[in-house]
Amino acid sequence: MSELRETLVIIGSGPAAWTAAVYASRANLDPVVYEGEISREMVPGGQLMFTTDIENFPGFPEALGGTDLMERMKQQAERFGTRVITENIEAVDFSQRPFVLTTSSGNRVIASAVIVSTGARANWLGLSSEERLARTGGGVSSCAVCDGALPAFRNQRLVVVGGGDSAMEEALYLTKFASEVVIVHRRDSFRASKVMADRVLRDPKVRVEWNAQVVDVLGDDFITGVRIEDLVTGEHRDLEVGGMFVAIGHTPNTAFLGGQLALHENGYIVTPDSWRTTTSVEGVFAAGDVMDSYYRQAVTAAGTGCMAALEAERWLAHHAEPAAHAEGVSA
Ligand code: NAP
Repeated sequence: MSELRETLVIIGSGPAAWTAAVYASRANLDPVVYEGEISREMVPGGQLMFTTDIENFPGFPEALGGTDLMERMKQQAERFGTRVITENIEAVDFSQRPFVLTTSSGNRVIASAVIVSTGARANWLGLSSEERLARTGGGVSSCAVCDGALPAFRNQRLVVVGGGDSAMEEALYLTKFASEVVIVHRRDSFRASKVMADRVLRDPKVRVEWNAQVVDVLGDDFITGVRIEDLVTGEHRDLEVGGMFVAIGHTPNTAFLGGQLALHENGYIVTPDSWRTTTSVEGVFAAGDVMDSYYRQAVTAAGTGCMAALEAERWLAHHAEPAAHAEGVSA
């Protein structure tokens, strides 16, 4: 098992993490980014990897893809010397300084300061049929942009669950492939921004099932339909579909912290001082969606990433000796 000594560890790989890395590496803090590994719900780069056109990130008058934006941010951080490791941080010990982090390959990373920018992941409805078919590639997904173009979904009627901006985005994306997109939403109005909702409601390929919820996903190996409950009448009926995309919000990726940072009830990291990225542990900073359940935008995540790097730099100047990333081997 290796033991690595680091000045600043940045955990995550979305706009907050890369912006923190750009600032920290330009400030000669020699940061290392643990960008995470690919899993069913997450990929390095975070949620923007699932976004097609980003039209609201300043500086890009032409829309650009989320993957492109993340790749550019990563390259920018690497240009200034940021080191990137494709592993998860699985556990932390913030009870003493320097902090100790454990990676997915079992390495120990001793860090003077840490920026947590691990973002949030997609929520599911919690149906066993949904879970089974999502796990086995049976046509149930939480990411239209990842899976929507698969041949199995072409010219099919597809269901999108949810009424927020993510659901709107998924529905619009799926209209490129589907014969029809049916949005199932539990209320009679969307939570999504007006511009997105209007775009969806104008699309001739989209139909909305208002006041409805999916109570079962039908099909053995691959989805054949969904059972929908009308939340006004209580009636159930089946809708034949060839795919289901769940877009009902996100949960912050904070479980690996093992309760060592104060969290809000919804799991997001508490940053006790307003307009700061400081957390309940001195020397640990939080940036991006993992501490922001309100704005959750790429540009706000990038902004808090910048703030976290500047705060870490100032904190390190007073509290820690810079540490080279010397590698040792422990028993
Ligand atoms: P969200 O805004 O929290 O919306 C979640 C939606 O899922 C809501 O409509 C909610 O219904 C529904 N929902 C939640 N739990 C459910 C359940 N168990 N069963 C059925 N429906 C359920 O999440 P989001 O759409 O992922 O967006 C998150 C943030 O990212 C927002 O701030 C959004 O503006 C932003 N975003 C922006 C863009 C963009 O600008 N292009 C794109 C994507 C996301 P209720 O409405 O009844 O609560």
